Amino acid sequence: MKEMISENLKQVHQNIQSACLRGGRSPADITLIAVSKTKPLEELFEAYGCGERNFGENKVQEILQKAPQMPEDTCFHMIGHLQRNKVRQVLPHVKMIHSVDSVRLAREIEQEAERLGKTVDILLEVNVAGEESKFGFSLEDTMDGVLQISRFPHIRICGLMTIAPFVENPELNRPVFQKLFQLYVDIKHKNIDNVNMSVLSMGMTGDYQVAVEEGATMIRVGTGIFGVR
Ligand SMILES: *Cc1c(COP(=O)(O)O)cnc(C)c1O
Repeated sequence: MKEMISENLKQVHQNIQSACLRGGRSPADITLIAVSKTKPLEELFEAYGCGERNFGENKVQEILQKAPQMPEDTCFHMIGHLQRNKVRQVLPHVKMIHSVDSVRLAREIEQEAERLGKTVDILLEVNVAGEESKFGFSLEDTMDGVLQISRFPHIRICGLMTIAPFVENPELNRPVFQKLFQLYVDIKHKNIDNVNMSVLSMGMTGDYQVAVEEGATMIRVGTGIFGVR
């Protein structure tokens, strides 16, 4: 298991480098989020030992369990659908919430952040392909969501996130990544107060190389690091 995780990480970082070369990107601009959902703490420690500091989880319960046991400089990213009644519990333990999929959820985060006296970094989740089964703002509604959420003083909008469709051939997701990148640039150019478009979270094990070529700044890789769940 030890060897596997470190070998996998080497491979992922190599693939990021190659994708950066193809896309004219700098590896320094890409943050790897090691998606450790369902995996035991020892495996997170393995990845930590290899230098990884950013971990992705999709369940509040799992974050509450794991976060206090990891070294202080570990950053947890909430990447799964977040229920409003779990916001209070999870806020103290996460570096960033990637999955803000409604203004209602953002309002709840605002209230809890104010209570804690902190500012919370978030991404808006965009359902680019319009899949029924997925959460997120539609491409059309995202700008309005950004404008509304930008009025919350204890929230910092840092960018956008998407979960692309599950496909065998990652090339099929290239247009999805291109559309989200375009929207990201459009919003950035509006220079909206309290909005700092600097993060584009897209790409998973099957398609992160294409996502990097198309402008991702955070990629979320689980299976490619820790093996199948
Ligand atoms: C599970 C998950 C991932 C990682 O998926 P892999 O295919 O295992 O790399 C990325 N993003 C989200 C939102 C997830 O839930």
